[in-house]
Amino acid sequence: MIVYKFGGASIKDYKSIKRLVKIIRNNNCDQMMLIVSAMGKTTNSMEDLVASYTKSYKNIKAKLELIKRFHTDIVKGLFPKNRLSALKVVDLLFNEIDKFLKLNKENDYNFIYDQLVSYGEILSSIIISKYFNSVGLKSKWVDARSCIITDEYYRDANVDFEKTSKSIKRKIKGKGLFISQGFIGSNKKSFTTTLGREGSDYSAAIFAHALNAELVTIWKDVRGVLNADPRYFNKTKLLKKISYEEAIELAFYGASVIHPKTLQPLKKKNIPLYVKSFLRPSREGTLISKHDSTVRNIPSHIVKWNRVLLKISSKDFSFIVEKKISLIFSMLSKYKMKVELIQNSAISFSVVLNNKYGGLDKLLDELKETFKVSVDKEVSLFTIRHFNRISLKHIKKLNQNILLEQRTYKTLQLVLSKNIKQENLFGFFER
Ligand code: ASP
Ligand code: MG
Repeated sequence: MIVYKFGGASIKDYKSIKRLVKIIRNNNCDQMMLIVSAMGKTTNSMEDLVASYTKSYKNIKAKLELIKRFHTDIVKGLFPKNRLSALKVVDLLFNEIDKFLKLNKENDYNFIYDQLVSYGEILSSIIISKYFNSVGLKSKWVDARSCIITDEYYRDANVDFEKTSKSIKRKIKGKGLFISQGFIGSNKKSFTTTLGREGSDYSAAIFAHALNAELVTIWKDVRGVLNADPRYFNKTKLLKKISYEEAIELAFYGASVIHPKTLQPLKKKNIPLYVKSFLRPSREGTLISKHDSTVRNIPSHIVKWNRVLLKISSKDFSFIVEKKISLIFSMLSKYKMKVELIQNSAISFSVVLNNKYGGLDKLLDELKETFKVSVDKEVSLFTIRHFNRISLKHIKKLNQNILLEQRTYKTLQLVLSKNIKQENLFGFFER
């Protein structure tokens, strides 16, 4: 069994979807699992729809109509003839969305998000499966919600590996081409959950783990794993071979090519992960496996924008030690804060946070009851893994005010005041 995962960019229009057929036919495997994301930027559009539905109540219909049109246009491109059955399914799914919008009584934003945004993946997988069948590539559509079993932590659900493995093995049997969705699962109440943005890689790894797959390939619009995001940096380098450990570190710091949770299930069973370009499928790309990395001499650069820097100290000048630190962490966890850097001194404790779930204001209110807190809301976090002297020179030339610095033997992390401008990064390696 091999597992292929195609992300949104590789299925952004009908022409790209046609390319998939070639890639699949070119591999000589009679047992394949295909995991697909939502098409193009559908997840963003769905998020926008959820925001309208929960906040402004404006333009909901028009937004939904646009998402529907995007999908029906793709169907029309894929099926010059005999498109009725595909169009019907699209209709059906949008009716379901409509029904949810009308009947839903829940107020929990995260719950609503998962019920709606997941339709992106359902739509894409059904359309692709139907298209494959229409060109003679027989495929079996599998509902990931009956395979990936999670808890109720909507928008960032935790997978129950035991139950999930069992369901996957039950659903996926025998030879052939199976198609399922990335990013989504369901909980014991049978509501849809999602695994976090860009979570389809993780889904591919979960399926691979359960099925003892030979390999996983993530098909992307870049050459492989690069030492910086090519959308912001020019002159990037390809990292050809990375060990699981190194890849986990890179993903942890936010290298956007791989979802951070993807590596653990693969590492457990020594399943190699390839990251390749769907535009140049015969090129080698990146291999992540148990073997040694070739990346130790290549600094990797990761920038995260819109982070929050909190400096917490006690009101009475007392030390910030065990009890207080544990109190701070319980509050961070209560408001679903993602902690990305920690630094402490005797009387102060600094953290960089990703306010992903919008709990910052409530957190601040609660923290301020006990502590003195200073907040810097729009900082960027710049990480260089395997930094060297040249990296330090590059950083200096950026000419940014550094609010906090953390250095270990392998990794340099800087918190930069104000969000760094994307255009300032572009010539980074040439300075
Ligand atoms: N469609 C989801 C997203 O865009 C999941 C994924 O692409 O991996 O975040
Ligand atoms: Mg996506």
